[in-house]
Amino acid sequence: MSLQERDKKHLWHPLTQHKLHPNHLAITKAKGALLYDDNGKSYIDGIASWYTCMYGHSNDYITNRVAQQMQELDHVVFAGFTHEPAIKLSEALIDILPKNQQKIFFSDNGSTSVDVAIKMALQYHFNKGEKRSKIIALEGGFHGDTFGAMSVSGLSVYNGPFEDFFIDVERIPVPTTSNFETVKAQFIKLLETENVAGFIYEPLVQGAAAMQMYDAALLDELLSITKKHGTLAIADEVMTGFGKTGKNFASEYLTNQPDIICLAKSLTGGLVPMAITSCTQEVYDAFLSNDLAKGFFHGHTYSANPIACTAALAGIELLKSENIQDNIKRITKSHQDFGLKIKQHPKVKSTRQLGVIFALDLNIKMERYGDLRYRLFNYFMENGVCLRPLGNTIYILAPYVTTKEQMNKVYTTIESALNNISS
Ligand SMILES: *Cc1c(COP(=O)(O)O)cnc(C)c1O
Repeated sequence: MSLQERDKKHLWHPLTQHKLHPNHLAITKAKGALLYDDNGKSYIDGIASWYTCMYGHSNDYITNRVAQQMQELDHVVFAGFTHEPAIKLSEALIDILPKNQQKIFFSDNGSTSVDVAIKMALQYHFNKGEKRSKIIALEGGFHGDTFGAMSVSGLSVYNGPFEDFFIDVERIPVPTTSNFETVKAQFIKLLETENVAGFIYEPLVQGAAAMQMYDAALLDELLSITKKHGTLAIADEVMTGFGKTGKNFASEYLTNQPDIICLAKSLTGGLVPMAITSCTQEVYDAFLSNDLAKGFFHGHTYSANPIACTAALAGIELLKSENIQDNIKRITKSHQDFGLKIKQHPKVKSTRQLGVIFALDLNIKMERYGDLRYRLFNYFMENGVCLRPLGNTIYILAPYVTTKEQMNKVYTTIESALNNISS
């Protein structure tokens, strides 16, 4: 029996309606920018496996460091104990994070990093004797699938069974130059009339909303208002972090820095799961007390796992290397050239780009998960390119190590898909 057939017996895949989509392609190997299936066919991983493997799959530098670490210290409880991989990682992160970030808290994935951030914001005010229960979020944002993270994400048709159990969230539209005065007024009103503990946002790029991009100056203005009301700003950089926007973190494009930052996905270069919620000294200090209950009683069994910390540390070293920085510049430039060209195509409505994140909207109206999306996906895969269109958006977020030739193949495959697929 093939892997695909054996898969069907016991496995339940994420985000999948198995009745409609029973088949899952078996991948047996991944190296650099390439995935290989069980027939040996290769695919360029144009989305870096959900933006995780940015330094390339099975990266030798990371895997060698992790293999060494595995011989020395596998795991130890992080409550009451510490270890060098976590210490070194905290130092390396503080060195590259926005200057106001001082403390590093570990969890296991992007969703838990958001749940931690929300709990931090709620308890920060609680510890100061203020009961603030609301969180403001941006419409169409995505922050994860655990209860807290799901609550602050945009409303989705998939959330039906859970909506009654959400935490208290107010949503405002993503600011644009045309709606800004209305959004700003709504935002100020919420901050003045509601007890708002935190404002969570994906800075500059909303990943799951098909790489929607918005203006740094507008977000900056909202953040300066947030500060005036003592509401904590929470930047979810789970997708935007570690170089994808052309800077280490998207928050670097802003003047107002967040109080709390969420990190995951390419934090460990795709090798193992781990997440971090960082915060300012001021946030941390609100939890210091002789009263035990004012501490932050949140923890995961694998918090600060030394193997994961080592992978993250090796990843940051790669990020800072000349080689990766040159690759980021090269891909940013080639995306610009491709954007100029493909914009002229009659089936393309618009293009957008920030750093190595590129997206184009098709001129074709369709449902978010309609048929065209699958036809495009199948066309790309048949041609050896793994891209997952979202609605009528095709986006590229390939690993930094994708070669010039591989990137050209991604571009030409998109172009030929536009020429060959009828709407
Ligand atoms: C993917 C993502 C998450 C959730 O991360 P998981 O590791 O899948 O739980 C949260 N926020 C953003 C912006 C993301 O892109």
